[in-house]
Amino acid sequence: MGEVRNISESTAVAPTIVEDTKESAQRAWAECLDILRTRVSAQSIKTWFEPISATSLDAGTLTLEVPSQFFYEWLEEHYTSLILETVTSVLGTTASVRYLIQEDEPDPEPALLTSQMPARSRDMALTDGNAVLPLDQPRQSAGLPQKPIATFLNPRYTFHNFIKGDSNQLARAAALAVANNPGGTSFNPLLLYGGVGLGKTHLIQAIGNHVLANNKARRVMYVSSEKFTVEFVDAIQSDTISEFSSFYRSLDVLIVDDIQFFSGKEKTQDNFFHTFNALHQLGKQIILSADKPPKELKGLGERLISRFQWGLTADIQPPDLETRIAILRKKSTDDGIELGQDVIEFLASHVTTNIRELEGCLITLLARASLENKDIDVELAKTVVRIVLGEVRTHLTIEDIQRSVCNFLNIPEELVRAKTRKQEIVSARQIAMYLSKELTNCSLKTIGLHFGGRDHSTVIHAYQTVEDLSSTDPNYRSTIQQIRSRIERHA
Ligand code: ADP
Ligand code: MG
Repeated sequence: MGEVRNISESTAVAPTIVEDTKESAQRAWAECLDILRTRVSAQSIKTWFEPISATSLDAGTLTLEVPSQFFYEWLEEHYTSLILETVTSVLGTTASVRYLIQEDEPDPEPALLTSQMPARSRDMALTDGNAVLPLDQPRQSAGLPQKPIATFLNPRYTFHNFIKGDSNQLARAAALAVANNPGGTSFNPLLLYGGVGLGKTHLIQAIGNHVLANNKARRVMYVSSEKFTVEFVDAIQSDTISEFSSFYRSLDVLIVDDIQFFSGKEKTQDNFFHTFNALHQLGKQIILSADKPPKELKGLGERLISRFQWGLTADIQPPDLETRIAILRKKSTDDGIELGQDVIEFLASHVTTNIRELEGCLITLLARASLENKDIDVELAKTVVRIVLGEVRTHLTIEDIQRSVCNFLNIPEELVRAKTRKQEIVSARQIAMYLSKELTNCSLKTIGLHFGGRDHSTVIHAYQTVEDLSSTDPNYRSTIQQIRSRIERHA
């Protein structure tokens, strides 16, 4: 407490020059940190308190600089009262805390969030008797002991060209935090989920690219769950499972896209489970994406799902109008073209659920305009939107839709074409009819015929029922949306 008097005296007696207040701020904060260390976990200290720097102490107000808006929001939700309590216990009851947010830039000064990843994981591998792999094993088995590994990252996916919006705010901020400190935050694993074409792959690859560009870690790899599965099956067949496992367990950052495709593949899940544990134990970063929240992932084992929820799960929603406009602006300028405000607004208000489709429209628009030597105007945009959004429809058959709906709802496919009136079958049939109408160009009559020869009024009734339920029941609406996304993605 003697310390406290010194500080208040020095600020009160002689209004100090900046250096002094900074020094006393740092001293006070160091003291606070010592107290905080006894009250929160070491991991939280590392993630949330060490990146904070005290920049001034002025008339009892301690200014703390935090790395980003997101970081501040997190503190606010979890720790600001604890921080204030601690600060007043050090500086006296009248002390207060002021937060200063650094620019939330994709490439902050490396000093901001220092990464001790490689050194730390080495230490852990050396000291942790339970570590799954001996230190030298990964290097041997990786096949390419010195050379960098193939990352399978697309350099096009960066934070820099990822447009920030309300719909992706948390996911982007969390991704950035992980990218700056892989394995060193409590976001391990980081799981991003959301519908098709909303930027999951972009963001999780942006983390990998950022980590490598800023030397935060070296062994970074991106893999889709399908590719992981194929490699695993190959490894079984060629009797190279131990090489396969060692390789994945030697990574610093493992990025697995679309984990919903692990569904039903128990052996692969088993292997992935052990890989996950091994990496997590070594403090390595795991980043995952899925098309829905972990709890709703069907066909995945409980223990795997519970692991996925260890870290942070963040969703990406469809972009709002402003974000869609911003994306179109950015992408068209990047492509070196000026689009009129009317064209941008037309596209942004007609292509609403999927950023990939938005890009598709832009590309088709450019192609048309240059091939046919036309101006890019709203007329052309209309044609293009029809083509791009219509394309999905022409590929799909009613059988595809029936299969997807039944798969999703876990009922035998032939029942939607049979006579049965069991409630769950009736409901599945209605959804399949609805989506057939929405996603194909087939007539009501044709649709009815594909459902065991029902007539068109049954299809109309089904359509109406699904519309009504969707507008009153958000869970139902979300189910329909998920099935639809899945169908469109396979189209
Ligand atoms: P998902 O993996 O969720 O299906 P992707 O990451 O493949 O979606 O995104 C689809 C396309 O949209 C990609 O070309 C991606 O670059 C682009 N995209 C998605 N979100 C954004 C964003 N916020 N800003 C810029 N481009 C985006
Ligand atoms: Mg993807």
